[in-house]
Amino acid sequence: MTLENDKALKEIILKAALLNALQHDGKAQAGALMGRVIGERQDLKTQAKELSGLIGKVVSEVNSLSVEEQKRKVEEKWPEALKKEKVEEEEKRLPPLPNADKYKQVVTRFSPNPDCVLHLGSARAIVLSHEYACLYKGKFILRFEDTDPKVKRPVLEFYDRIRGDLDWLGCKADEEYIQSDRLQIYYEYAERLLREGNAYVCTCQPEQFRKKTLSKKPCDCRSLSAEENLERWQRMLNGGYGEGEAVVRVKTDIKHPNPAVRDWPALRIIDSKRYPHPRVGSKYRVWPLYNMAAGVDDHLMGVTHVIRGKEHLTNQVRQEYMYRYLGWKYPEAIHYGRLKITGAFLSKSKIVQGIREGVYTGWDDPRLATFAALRKRGITPEAIKKMIIDVGPKTADVTLSWENLYAYNRKILDPLSNRYFFVSEPSELKVKNVPKSFKAELPLHPEKPERGLREYTVTPRAEFWIAKRDADAAETRKMLRLMELFNVKIESVNAESVEAVFASEAYEDARKAKAKLIHWIPKGATFPCRVVMPDASVNEGVAESACEKLKPDTTIQFERFGFVRVDKNDGKLTAYYAHK
Ligand SMILES: [Zn+2]
Repeated sequence: MTLENDKALKEIILKAALLNALQHDGKAQAGALMGRVIGERQDLKTQAKELSGLIGKVVSEVNSLSVEEQKRKVEEKWPEALKKEKVEEEEKRLPPLPNADKYKQVVTRFSPNPDCVLHLGSARAIVLSHEYACLYKGKFILRFEDTDPKVKRPVLEFYDRIRGDLDWLGCKADEEYIQSDRLQIYYEYAERLLREGNAYVCTCQPEQFRKKTLSKKPCDCRSLSAEENLERWQRMLNGGYGEGEAVVRVKTDIKHPNPAVRDWPALRIIDSKRYPHPRVGSKYRVWPLYNMAAGVDDHLMGVTHVIRGKEHLTNQVRQEYMYRYLGWKYPEAIHYGRLKITGAFLSKSKIVQGIREGVYTGWDDPRLATFAALRKRGITPEAIKKMIIDVGPKTADVTLSWENLYAYNRKILDPLSNRYFFVSEPSELKVKNVPKSFKAELPLHPEKPERGLREYTVTPRAEFWIAKRDADAAETRKMLRLMELFNVKIESVNAESVEAVFASEAYEDARKAKAKLIHWIPKGATFPCRVVMPDASVNEGVAESACEKLKPDTTIQFERFGFVRVDKNDGKLTAYYAHK
């Protein structure tokens, strides 16, 4: 039966075309229908050419109708479809921000420590903060929290890398601040807290202080006068105390149920001669700790909504003391649950160490979950964003896998990526008795005929490269179909080569024989190619000669292999593997 006479098929196409037309002002897009039709009729997969002809016909019929006529037809035949389509098309939205209308402008921030490049673990904070700012036409701030030159030491190159990562993600900041530029501001508020008796300079040994607070008792420094505290503060600034000899503490309820809240440390001394800061060197010796710097900045920068992980809940409790002393209102805080990504390697210190020791080739080593590595592999920022937005800011912990991310990415790459053949670990296939020359026409994209074809001539002296995996699986006397070309019968399988004899041309024969479909490249139509896999191993092989023209940074699909991103193409193609 030719496709023309397949009534059931025509109905499927008509329905898809009408619904598609209704979504596009009455003009159905032929390219969008192929996938949908094949989804319902897997058996037509290999008849893409005939099918696309038929789709083209139906589409032009449908497009000649007015929108009213199209609507009437759907209502008559498939009344339920109209409703369903709508639901499917609806995008997942983020839940509204609390009290957004109380602020003149919504302001969010992302505040990384530039001690490593960004990775997938930061995606949630970035995407949600940026997305909400966009949603409310507000402002998204990037704030480098680089006030620990000793333990979480910032590194100059990461400031720029982080900016680059945000650009790539499509989350460019509207404003940028660097905390190491702002020490005088923190000093000013520290002094005010000391002067007003809401903070004190504690010179106790950390261990002594800990024992006291655990038993809900103040240390002796807590009762010092404001004058004495300001004097101690001056000694902190001018070198009278060494590293570890004095900290500024913000007073809290000394009996607070959570001991970690009690009189938290706000500023401390770092021996900046030994640990110079990469931006400001040894200029400062008193450095604010996280809650002091972030708390002051959120207020001064007008941040209205702080969106962060729930591990920060205690920090909010700490900072609220300071906010009350200074007469400020604490921003709205949204604390989301943990997002685990199984199999993703997200320890910053281990990444940095691995790079230093040469375990990884660089920040974009495919084994890492850094944005640089994801970008190299062809994982799109859109996929990351979509996944994060679908998860949203909920407080429950969520576990995702690489597969989840790949599924989002596949949806984006599939329509974009042209198809090619890549033969990994090439084995020889010789086919005898080929009756004539064949011209193989392989669509660049099965659903987008307008993109054109890759064409190869196969002469009667037919010799091919096929993947070792396919050669190893070949069995004598069984039939194989060379995709979009012809069917062969296997005669012998040796270590290095497979011999076969021409069987027939029709796809139908292959289907009846349940023959395996394999990809192939004619000898003489190859282009050298290597694919770097996610475990950093390299898959050497040959691609078809049409790959010679591919530009770096395009993503393509190597059929029966996976999606890859072209990284280099200088006489040899180097691609990075994304996923199946
Ligand atoms: Zn003390």
